Amino acid sequence: MDAPTTAGPDSVAPADLTTDILIIGAGPAGLFGAYYAGFRGMSVTLMDSLPEAGGQVTAMYPEKIIYDVAGFPAVRGRDLVSALVTQAGAFSPNYLLGQQAAELTHETDAVVVTSAQGTRVRAKAVLITGGLGTFTPRPLPIGGDHLGRGLVYFVPKLDVHTDADVIIVGGGDSAFDWALALEPLARSVTLVHRRDKFRAHAHTVEKVQSSRVEVLTFTEVSAIHGDERVEKVELAHSKSGERQVRPAQAIVAALGFTADLGPLTRWNLTIDKRHIVVDSTMATGVERIFAAGDITEYPGKVRLIATGFGEVATAVNNAAPVIDPSAKVFPGHSSDDGPIPA
Ligand SMILES: Cc1cc2nc3c(=O)[nH]c(=O)nc-3n(C[C@H](O)[C@H](O)[C@H](O)COP(=O)(O)OP(=O)(O)OC[C@H]3O[C@@H](n4cnc5c(N)ncnc54)[C@H](O)[C@@H]3O)c2cc1C
Repeated sequence: MDAPTTAGPDSVAPADLTTDILIIGAGPAGLFGAYYAGFRGMSVTLMDSLPEAGGQVTAMYPEKIIYDVAGFPAVRGRDLVSALVTQAGAFSPNYLLGQQAAELTHETDAVVVTSAQGTRVRAKAVLITGGLGTFTPRPLPIGGDHLGRGLVYFVPKLDVHTDADVIIVGGGDSAFDWALALEPLARSVTLVHRRDKFRAHAHTVEKVQSSRVEVLTFTEVSAIHGDERVEKVELAHSKSGERQVRPAQAIVAALGFTADLGPLTRWNLTIDKRHIVVDSTMATGVERIFAAGDITEYPGKVRLIATGFGEVATAVNNAAPVIDPSAKVFPGHSSDDGPIPA
């Protein structure tokens, strides 16, 4: 199953929702949490400020092979995300993508989270799996008008670019990984970078340089042409001043992301150096609010996908009696109950 996406900022989310558990952050921890909460019989809503599920994996390294996820000797980032989405999909979680959790208010037996986009979610418990916080892609300075109309910050589905002329902007791992991944499919791939030094892994740079990808250094996108969608780009050489216009149906701006906890810092959580302090049950100390994954802090914390999976199982199971006082913390074994509700 493909990772769910929204149609973008115009997509319509219901203004008011009620759910047993609201999971803030659809990265690996949040997605596995959605499975676990479904397995515990909870209704689940997943909110993420990004338009794609998968957190850091989708945003920064979908093409990289991950070697330290239990049970997978080697798994490509996008395949891990896809498997997590499929696993959670057994319980049909409600996805609110492109929505940033912003405000928190308390009611007698629930909390209400309102997104910056105006959606109100009333939940009996909230699980924050917000990783590094809200990601904001570093924008292509001249790209605003064409965002979503050929200009993208992610490549969630490679085949969308089959037979296209693709311009990739950036010199880091994402830019080079996407160049390699798109090279077999696209009509042409041009990687432009404003310097001649790359932050990407040297081995990946070598692979790109010996592929069909054209690498242009000291080069920037100086103009984008096309009314409905991107049709051409103008590239400017910063040393010679030379300009050239090339056909392009897609521009991938891989300029990195900034991340910060943003509105979560106003929720009375105990924050230690941009992380949320939790106890051994993954409770935050704020009533009904749990946290798991990269965003948490406690003595001995290790920020890895594997530890996030364990933490989120602990968090969901400890949220269970908060949501339903008759529920136990221990869930039983999935091998006894089966993955999919009857
Ligand atoms: C290049 C790179 C390579 C890596 N390689 C490995 C590896 O080999 N093995 C490994 O174990 N780990 C690796 N990691 C680390 C791993 O990706 C993280 O540990 C993991 O992604 C953490 O998962 P998470 O779900 O806790 O958070 P994240 O993946 O960070 O996801 C958090 C999500 O929360 C969302 N969010 C945050 N705040 C809000 C808000 N207010 N409202 C709505 N949404 C919000 C964000 O948009 C994001 O999508 C790597 C990381 C990088 C950058």
